[in-house]
Amino acid sequence: MNAATPTEVDFTFLEEGFSARDTVEQKINESFLTDDRDAFYVCDLGDVLKKHLRWVRALPRVTPYYAVKCNDTREVVMTLASLGTGFDCASKTEIQLVQSLGVDPSRIIYANPCKQVSHIKYASAHAVQMMTFDSKEELVKVVNCHDNAKLVLRITTDDSKSKFPLSMKFGAQLKSCRGLLERAKELGLDVIGVSFHVGCGCTDVKSYTQAISDAYCVFHMGEELGFKMDLLDIGGGFPGSDKKDILMFEEITAVINPALDKYFPADTGVKIIAEPGSFYVASAYTLVVNIIGKKDIVNEESVSDEEDGGTDERITDRALMYYVNDAVSKSFSCKEMTPVQFPPTLLKKPQPHEATYPCSIWGQTSSRHDSIVDHCFLPDLQVSDWLIFEDMGAYTISSFSNFSGFINPNIHYVISRPAWQHVKQVQSQAIPAPVEESHVFQETSNE
Ligand code: PLP
Repeated sequence: MNAATPTEVDFTFLEEGFSARDTVEQKINESFLTDDRDAFYVCDLGDVLKKHLRWVRALPRVTPYYAVKCNDTREVVMTLASLGTGFDCASKTEIQLVQSLGVDPSRIIYANPCKQVSHIKYASAHAVQMMTFDSKEELVKVVNCHDNAKLVLRITTDDSKSKFPLSMKFGAQLKSCRGLLERAKELGLDVIGVSFHVGCGCTDVKSYTQAISDAYCVFHMGEELGFKMDLLDIGGGFPGSDKKDILMFEEITAVINPALDKYFPADTGVKIIAEPGSFYVASAYTLVVNIIGKKDIVNEESVSDEEDGGTDERITDRALMYYVNDAVSKSFSCKEMTPVQFPPTLLKKPQPHEATYPCSIWGQTSSRHDSIVDHCFLPDLQVSDWLIFEDMGAYTISSFSNFSGFINPNIHYVISRPAWQHVKQVQSQAIPAPVEESHVFQETSNE
């Protein structure tokens, strides 16, 4: 592997036959030369490209507006900007970030139904027009602070089967949509469409189909009131990894596509967008943490064996507590939104005969809530051993806090040369990402 000249993004090229996993090993090996055992990430930007190709293939009618809140690193945003995606921004700072990378305002949706007045003014001053709303109060703010907003009405969904539901906080119920649209009309505002979000980690495709049909009803309400409704935003909720106990992306899209064709056929001219976050970034990131402390809890219990003349038999229960140099206030802040329920892996797979013990994994802060994994099985590890968490790109880095002064893990970005060339080609020629990805990934060993 050799370092690339830092350009717009700082990364290392993976040489032919090397994968991001090799970088993890290399960084761990380097740590043996020093005392440095800081936690770190390895991000494969090629995986972000791979996800984009998968998106284009599975949802050809839906333009992705990447949800920046999910992972706001410059490297990810830059890669996606090069690939031509749009962006879902939740705040002025996210709009600033995306625009600093040269993204046209037409590729931004300000998808926060509850915005601070000064942020709406900022959007107006920077030509960001598309924005969501779900209340009459928001309409009043917009009419006072934005010169030319194009409003998108966010509706609630049935997100009861999602890992992280959002509809208790955002979205208008169907029965209040007509009133909201009427108010927008009275205020002279322009409503252009409908959005929804089925909640992060959606496990029931029916949530999407129901929401698409609800959106169709709201389109009709809008049209009856004279609005030109031509934007449908199907939000996020798509899985970021292919773990076997979650719904596969393609299982979801196989149901969404016919629903879109039924309610919003191509000849209606309705533009369909989505706000995927986790889908694009989760699997690109691997987090590597170091064990900085350990407690061996041994419970000895005496059991009287009647048949054996009442002699005592000792039953020994052993549980291990590992303390690592990351925390719930850093990479694990959105425990419920990220797949950390999967136990960590080790650099070297345990031998089949190797004993494992019930373990818990704790963060480095003093908070008793700093519990990373409540229960998993691991071998008897030592202080300074490493634990590896995969699929850690979503709602991790963007939620880092400085609680107790611990430093943030470093992030090492890697990409294979063919993948990088492909990103650059799409960027320079503005060509759409091809549906066939094999020629881009065939040269790396783990693809
Ligand atoms: N759009 C909005 C408005 C959101 O609130 C979120 C997540 O909270 C997303 C998109 C991204 O969701 P996901 O990561 O499930 O794709």
